[in-house]
Amino acid sequence: MLLFTPGPTPVPESVRIAMAGETLHHRTPEFEAIFERTRALLFELLGMSEVLMLASSGTGAMEAAVTNLTHAKLLSINSGKFGERFGKIAAAHGIANVEIKHEWDTAASVAEVQAALDANPDIDAIAIQICESAGGLRHNAEAIAAAVKAHNPSIMVIADGITAVGVEKIDVTNIDCLISGSQKALMLPPGLAIMGLSSAAIEKIGKGKGYYFNLATEIKNQQKNTTAWTAATTLIIGLESVLNRIKAEGGLSKLYDETARRARATREALVAIGLHIYPTTPADSMTTIDDEQAPKIRTMLKKEFEINMAGGQDHIKDLIFRINHMGLIPAYEAAWVVNSIELALEKLGRRTFDGTANKVFSTVYFGSNA
Ligand SMILES: *Cc1c(COP(=O)(O)O)cnc(C)c1O
Repeated sequence: MLLFTPGPTPVPESVRIAMAGETLHHRTPEFEAIFERTRALLFELLGMSEVLMLASSGTGAMEAAVTNLTHAKLLSINSGKFGERFGKIAAAHGIANVEIKHEWDTAASVAEVQAALDANPDIDAIAIQICESAGGLRHNAEAIAAAVKAHNPSIMVIADGITAVGVEKIDVTNIDCLISGSQKALMLPPGLAIMGLSSAAIEKIGKGKGYYFNLATEIKNQQKNTTAWTAATTLIIGLESVLNRIKAEGGLSKLYDETARRARATREALVAIGLHIYPTTPADSMTTIDDEQAPKIRTMLKKEFEINMAGGQDHIKDLIFRINHMGLIPAYEAAWVVNSIELALEKLGRRTFDGTANKVFSTVYFGSNA
């Protein structure tokens, strides 16, 4: 079965083998050396002043970012399940919150962020997804971050890059906290959250907030190549392995280029067979199709073509299916996915199979203007 869900994503075999060694104690020079090398690789990946690894799923890093970086009021962008989560985290901690809310296919605009900042001078942090995975939507997070900093440079910009880090190069000029997680573009099992911080964020964190997710405690420890609590040792070993694997396969720029081409080839192939892309601004981490027969197509792909894709959640649960592009995915697997969708459409009596999807995919992916 091919795993094509936008998280978890398949773990490369070499990485699984790297994680299969004997148990290491986390407070040892052996593990600290691994931690130090992994930290160095994360500085390269994120391009920020500080990096942290937290033993939690991605949501833990979202919570840590909100509690440590919001001291007055949070502005959160809700164009889906994950944006909604930032607001729920604020509510759970009694942190004041205003939200810009949209249907899950629609990105936030710079103008409405500016209007919210004008109306709420006490906002001191904004949280946004770079890619909102609920609908596969790309926010223009960089432009919004730039507008926030132009308005007031002391406002913290928290960017959830869980389905963006490792997908594309992110301009972190105006980002104070960039969040990533293990089980999406980083091709690891779930359980490790990653955070990049700006020097302004480190300053604002000060003594930190909370206990388990007190970022001041983590910064102090991780700068010494250890962690405040027991480290997720196996996942960190896996992270070093995966980041070295990306290097061995030609580096980050090659990974970004291949992901972008695979995403574009998939979108164009599916549009060519009459399907519709759900988000108005699609991200490259996944392709989301909205279709009345989405659940049927998804079941058919699983039962007859050995492909596991994701559906939707909440009100668009049965309206969409999502195809992952994150990770080191061979082109032949991605081509099989669009080919299978075309076969499914024939079985549903919607078109005669003629190989259009595969042809368009291959032309776009391997074409001279790719
Ligand atoms: C997966 C994901 C998360 C984190 O979810 P966890 O289940 O806690 O790892 C957060 N934001 C986005 C955009 C995601 O795709």
